[in-house]
Amino acid sequence: MLRIAIIGSGPAGCYLADNLLRLLPDSSSDILERLPVPFGLIRYGVAPDHQGTKAIARVLDRVLSRDHVSFFGNVEVGRDVRLDELMSLYHAVVLATGAERDRRLGIPGEDLPGVVGSGGFTGWYNGHPDHPAPQAQEVHSAVIIGNGNVAIDVARILAKGSAELAGSDLSPEVSAWLRSQPIEAIHIVGRRGAADAKFTDHELAELGTLERARPVVVDPASLDGASPVVQTLRRFATANRESPVAINFHFDLRPAAFVGEKQLRAVQFRSADGSTVELPAQLAVTCIGYEAVACCGVNPANGVFPNQDGKVKDGLYVVGWAKRGPSGTIPTNRSEAQQVAQRIAQEVTDSERRGGSALRQLLEERHVCWVDYEAWRRIDTAELARAGQRRCREKFSTVAEMLEAAQVGPNVGCPSARN
Ligand code: NAP
Repeated sequence: MLRIAIIGSGPAGCYLADNLLRLLPDSSSDILERLPVPFGLIRYGVAPDHQGTKAIARVLDRVLSRDHVSFFGNVEVGRDVRLDELMSLYHAVVLATGAERDRRLGIPGEDLPGVVGSGGFTGWYNGHPDHPAPQAQEVHSAVIIGNGNVAIDVARILAKGSAELAGSDLSPEVSAWLRSQPIEAIHIVGRRGAADAKFTDHELAELGTLERARPVVVDPASLDGASPVVQTLRRFATANRESPVAINFHFDLRPAAFVGEKQLRAVQFRSADGSTVELPAQLAVTCIGYEAVACCGVNPANGVFPNQDGKVKDGLYVVGWAKRGPSGTIPTNRSEAQQVAQRIAQEVTDSERRGGSALRQLLEERHVCWVDYEAWRRIDTAELARAGQRRCREKFSTVAEMLEAAQVGPNVGCPSARN
């Protein structure tokens, strides 16, 4: 029986476990997760008003519930258990830790209050315990840097009125913050032309359907080409609609500086002819991609863990954004996981490894209270139960609350203590 440890319970990790079981029905996969709750990017990256996409969590949940899969939430590799220990207990260990750090622009003013990376911002509006509210108030004008789908998500959440966000899983605190901002202008700024934008047309077109916001192309004459994205932008440019919030598209502007003394006041850009363009902003969100961070002694290079088709070294593999960088859609992870699972199935040979039973023993000795699948189900049930009428789920936003709902922790006993 091959025993595999997967570090990270986002789509990449869960799809890998699923594929391993298809290829090797006798294998077992243990999925370790730093937070008490699973699903990574689905829970904390996908926008709260895109519940159709978030529903993929149900597919991933079915993977966690399978007989040969075990969930170890609230276990941080590198803190609670070392990578070399895992590698001695399992036939293969797989990094599925994603790309969690925001890339930086490296321009003046980037650390001013009011400037935030998209990981921090989307993490905050998704209730991630590590991400506080942006340090910005009285936001009349917000600047979003980048021309990808994350920029669209951020603009849409800022632009929607509370009625349009009903039924999402935004927390009451996030809803209140959004409601209290007098937003009039949102600027989405790309460093290249519209033809080079990475938006998908479907996501872009959605901005034309919002109740209280209208998309505006600042320089329609600059729209070049006939891609679906450019055509949608042309439609935006000819639409004539009044609404309280304008979503302004700017192209060919390179970020130059964030301006302000104690607080962000404006963002400066350099245009193609060398002139400076300054946009007022009390909030700026950089949506320019992410990079992997070091995990348990393994260091990334250029934002990913160096690998050859998913292999880092003998016994150590990598999948998802940690492998290829922050690109593709969620189904991309499914096909990629299939390839890495095949590679593991071909390369890993059976030998004596104690796997999950030894890991449990080790965690117990270290008094680590992990969240198993049943305990995660208790968190899930509690979050759904407290949601009320206006939202589909009310997430716990601290680890302590999650552990209390899971009924594991110093005061309520670890899983093994209850069994
Ligand atoms: P992305 O699609 O790679 O877009 C990043 C943007 O940042 C690009 O416009 C890029 O411009 C720009 N950028 C990078 N460095 C910059 C710099 N130094 N200065 C100015 N601009 C810079 O990344 P993303 O939006 O973070 O999305 C990540 C992945 O998740 C993508 O595959 C995306 O499609 C996916 N996603 C999908 C959905 C959905 O399907 N609903 C939602 C969210 C995210 P250049 O092109 O010039 O490099």
